[in-house]
Amino acid sequence: MSARMQLLETVYLTSLLLPFILLFVYSCFRFVCYCFHNSILLFSSTTAYVLYKKYLIYPRLNLPLLGINKLSPIQFLIVLIYSGLTCACNLLWVKTADQAASRAAKLSLINLLPLYLAGGHEFGARLLFIPLETYGIFHRTAGWMASIECAIHIIIIYAKHGDQGTDDSGFYGIVGGSMILALLVLPMVKRRVYEVFLVTHLACAFVGLYAIWKHLHFQKSSSVRLIWVCLSTFVVTSSLQLCRILYRNVHTRRSARIVCSFIGDEVIRVAIHMPRPWAVRAGERVNLGIPGLGIFYIFQAHPFSVAWWESDTANGSSPIYLMFRVRNGFTRKIRGCLNPGQEYRAWVDGPFGPSSSVPNDMSLYGHILMATSGIGIAAQIPYIKEILHRRRAAEACTERISLIWELDRSGDYSSAVEWLQELISQDQSYILNIEIYTGVNMITEKSVALGDHDLIKIHAGSIDWEGKVQDESNRQKGRQLVAAEETLGLSVKPGNVRLKAEDGIQYAWHVDDISLRHLFDKHLSKHSVGAYQRLCSEVGQSFWAIYNEPTKKEDLARSEEIEHLEQEKKILVEKLAEANTKIAELLDKIESVEAQRDSLEESISKSNQTLLLHQEEAQRWMTISDYYQNSFLYVSDALAHVVTYLQGVEGNSYTLGTS
Ligand SMILES: Cc1cc2nc3c(=O)[nH]c(=O)nc-3n(C[C@H](O)[C@H](O)[C@H](O)COP(=O)(O)OP(=O)(O)OC[C@H]3O[C@@H](n4cnc5c(N)ncnc54)[C@H](O)[C@@H]3O)c2cc1C
Repeated sequence: MSARMQLLETVYLTSLLLPFILLFVYSCFRFVCYCFHNSILLFSSTTAYVLYKKYLIYPRLNLPLLGINKLSPIQFLIVLIYSGLTCACNLLWVKTADQAASRAAKLSLINLLPLYLAGGHEFGARLLFIPLETYGIFHRTAGWMASIECAIHIIIIYAKHGDQGTDDSGFYGIVGGSMILALLVLPMVKRRVYEVFLVTHLACAFVGLYAIWKHLHFQKSSSVRLIWVCLSTFVVTSSLQLCRILYRNVHTRRSARIVCSFIGDEVIRVAIHMPRPWAVRAGERVNLGIPGLGIFYIFQAHPFSVAWWESDTANGSSPIYLMFRVRNGFTRKIRGCLNPGQEYRAWVDGPFGPSSSVPNDMSLYGHILMATSGIGIAAQIPYIKEILHRRRAAEACTERISLIWELDRSGDYSSAVEWLQELISQDQSYILNIEIYTGVNMITEKSVALGDHDLIKIHAGSIDWEGKVQDESNRQKGRQLVAAEETLGLSVKPGNVRLKAEDGIQYAWHVDDISLRHLFDKHLSKHSVGAYQRLCSEVGQSFWAIYNEPTKKEDLARSEEIEHLEQEKKILVEKLAEANTKIAELLDKIESVEAQRDSLEESISKSNQTLLLHQEEAQRWMTISDYYQNSFLYVSDALAHVVTYLQGVEGNSYTLGTS
């Protein structure tokens, strides 16, 4: 092989891997920031990062052609560069048809390398620290490129040597090529019969690899090493995955178990008890397999988002929860074969999704609007839960979370309402607003409010998305406007802002949230980073600037009244606590009296039984005495007869003697 060709190959391979190397380096950088709690580094990187996400990651291209409308600008750019580079490699320094065929074959082989990176998309994405969707695009694009190059190779060879017949090498070449081309057709059945697609996809991939290896072997080509690279990469990553499954599921004393509960006919909730601790992160998914469902389900695993977990999951004591809709395969089998509340063996592969070492991006946003429908709520709840948790630890900048959930079916509401209520009760600074649109006519009233402070609102009908987004962005504006400058017309440089009241400043702070009041007893410079973050997130909501005017009489009266009311409230709260204690004591007493009553009732019933026995005994003895009395009368009667008779006999003998 010429030096030029080798150089071209290396350049092509490097440029293929470059985006992933960069992504990997970037993830490592963020991990380091996170480890050192270097919030300055994190936040300074945030502005650029947010812009990058806003313009290059989140938008979608408005071009409904070959699935381009599903790509973000950065993905489209990468695909474009990749295609251009491949095209250039096809043409550069190619003079003859044989050279073109051999170049296409080489490029096809190089493009096979990323396809054998891992056994499943989820594991591959996790290995490369990239989202599942990006990995899917990467896998599909490389697959298409490998197939196109393979087709070019076959066409040129057939056009040039088609009339010379096929030898063994040609035969294996055709088999390999057909397998690669078949891989393009198989996704068509993916939606209908996923398991068939999965098995045939893997089978074609390995038969194709074997056939290409044979083809190259007969050709005595040095490119055979690329096949070995594909195979060894696959073996290494699959072994890693297997080790992780074993680690997660097998322990000396326990193994993974699940307990199902059914919510209506359509939703299943599964509690997974893992043998080892698992610190769950929002956005994580797992692949769940339940061998007990039948022989076809032993190796079948299905992906589900982790929908809920308790705070002590990290110690391994609490389960993690999945929630899913009943469909036609695996999920329907669970609905039909498993009993609710009963424990079953399971195996779990995961977690997949965001790396646990990198902090959640969402908590860096001030205002989050989440929109979902039906069972999609299972993927949103974890993010809210995590943001609320991070906010309690003063690690999140989020000031408002608006969740809009449109119900698909009647069972949807009951599937998640309990968790939503729990989130509302965890939300100490009232940043969470939940609006549920019934879609189907579930309730008759136009709207209903639920939860602490009516923070869950249920509306009948469907959502007006445009109006909703507009409404949310107006709220966002309002919050930003609550600055001293906007409300009071005062201009204060950031360096001159004072927290603690001082003589000569024209503003004061009105603090609504009592838990924040202590922060205003100190100067700004004396506070910690946590306090700054709290102040930063609460400004305009729980406290805001007001004119520092001399207090007017009504204000004084009002504040006195408020103080008085607060004292009354305090007394009432204390009384309530006392009453609760008394109620608890009385309940205890009632319980002990009831226990005494029960034991007395028991002894009375025992005595009654003994009395009954004695009465029966006495009755028996009376019957016996009656019997003896009758017998005695009978015997004495007989004796009287005998005495009378004997007296008669004695009278007769006397008469005979005298005569
Ligand atoms: C990352 C991810 C997270 C998910 N999280 C949830 C969740 O939290 N709740 C929920 O209700 N659903 C979730 N799903 C969808 C869920 O995995 C499928 O609905 C489930 O596997 C269907 O199983 P089934 O055999 O009953 O489906 P079928 O009736 O056989 O098929 C229904 C649909 O599911 C797809 N599907 C089937 N098996 C798989 C599989 N192994 N991998 C991917 N797709 C498959 C099929 O292509 C088809 O479109 C998630 C899917 C993915 C990819």
